[in-house]
Amino acid sequence: MNKEKRVRVRFAPSPTGPLHLGGIRTALYNYLFAKKEKGDFILRIEDTDQARYVPGAEKYILEALEWLGLKTDEDPVQGGPSKTYRQSERVEIYQKEIKRLLESGDAYYAFDTPEELEKMRERLLSAKVISPKYNTISREFMKNSLVMPKEEVEKLIAKGTPYVIRLKTPHKKNINFFDEVRGWIKVDYTEMEDKVLIKSDGIPTYHFANVVDDYMMKISHVIRGEEWLPSTPVHVLLYEVLGWKNEMPKFIHLPVILKPCGKGKLSKRDTDQLGFPVFPLNWISPEGDFSKGLKESDYLPEAILNFLALMGWNPGTSQEVFSLEQLIENFSLKKIGKSGAKFNIEKAKWFNSQHMNNLPSEYVLERVEKVLSEKKIYPQKIALQKIIKEVISRNNFFDEVANEIEIYLTSPIYKKEDLEKFKITDEGLSALKYFLEKLKNDSENFDVKNALVNAAEKFLLKSTALMPLVRYAISAQRKGIELSLVLDFIGKKTSIDRIESFIKLNEK
Ligand code: GLU
Repeated sequence: MNKEKRVRVRFAPSPTGPLHLGGIRTALYNYLFAKKEKGDFILRIEDTDQARYVPGAEKYILEALEWLGLKTDEDPVQGGPSKTYRQSERVEIYQKEIKRLLESGDAYYAFDTPEELEKMRERLLSAKVISPKYNTISREFMKNSLVMPKEEVEKLIAKGTPYVIRLKTPHKKNINFFDEVRGWIKVDYTEMEDKVLIKSDGIPTYHFANVVDDYMMKISHVIRGEEWLPSTPVHVLLYEVLGWKNEMPKFIHLPVILKPCGKGKLSKRDTDQLGFPVFPLNWISPEGDFSKGLKESDYLPEAILNFLALMGWNPGTSQEVFSLEQLIENFSLKKIGKSGAKFNIEKAKWFNSQHMNNLPSEYVLERVEKVLSEKKIYPQKIALQKIIKEVISRNNFFDEVANEIEIYLTSPIYKKEDLEKFKITDEGLSALKYFLEKLKNDSENFDVKNALVNAAEKFLLKSTALMPLVRYAISAQRKGIELSLVLDFIGKKTSIDRIESFIKLNEK
């Protein structure tokens, strides 16, 4: 490949459903590489498989990329130098190219019926062929234009007999190609199949449309999931026979995302079990099944991108939290790993908390106010401003922040099992009363911590004994932000009332 070739990468999903985590990661790596190299990030919709086409999937993909902040330079909606970015609208282009391959003899007509193909399979299996294929050997015994007389082929076509067009794998020629992550890959010609390039309805298969488009769209690097590695020899051969070998893009196959246990590929069932949304936005399947999206589950797009960026790519330093700009700055293909990356939901939550912490607190405040107002809770802004940073630092999500605030603003409901755990003694109660008096008569420089220690020590309790009790009395929580902040937030009067009722409850 010419060194000066402009970096142009594509994300090429098939609209067979919504984007999932693996797809987002592929889009992200393409985006990061394009932006790092000041190149172009293209979205191409690979919709040649009409049977698997899902209406709404393309729109969903576009909306998801937008939410994630992965801005495309060319796509089916905004267009670009290519006339269209939907393969279903590019059929004429593929037809022109397949004609060339038929003429050069690198592709051929095959008239075999499904029954005949099945028979071939059975025959090969019984001859102990492990993975039966339509290949350099078996094609000799099938109904195709390589073995049939020209006139008969013409007759069949004229009669309207259904046919597919297959790629003619050269005999005794192995395919070698270089993957930027995995190095040289050698594929023995006996492992190759004469792949169908054009289906019986005249529509190209993934392999053919994908290669033609990558060439036509001047794609410099193909960055895609590992599951496409077995298709690459076919693609390499196609570049050769189409006469585009010198324009062949570089190949980068990304490692799979593994189940949390590290064994096997992560599936939707795994993430469902963990309660982790696998789709970026809400999705209703054609069968009417609803899946909640990452967005609707309160995940920040920057957290998802950061989380996925590190699943397969290693920055080479101990830095973990990256903004999108920082990811672009640091990204390099050389640091993409070969082995699968384990999915870890706790890490995803952690990234969310990190990015939430990095947001301006005004912004978080607004989001939290919105959640609260939906519950008809309207805290005072000034009071909220004082505690918001602390509350954010203790939680992973906006709604958790809102929940914690809601807890402080609603009358505590004490649980029997909690009360039992405290084992409140007479001394404890006396200390609590003593503290309450101090709080009632507090002055400007009332120091909650000191008052708690003093009250505890006065009744010969451990100096730290009273703090959890007061916290529980005013919030029915065993954990939370600093106690003085809680007291301040809920106000003196409410705090006093709550402690008083707590004392009464325990005196009975
Ligand atoms: N249409 C393929 C997919 O759905 C694209 C694979 C590739 O990037 O070549 O993932």
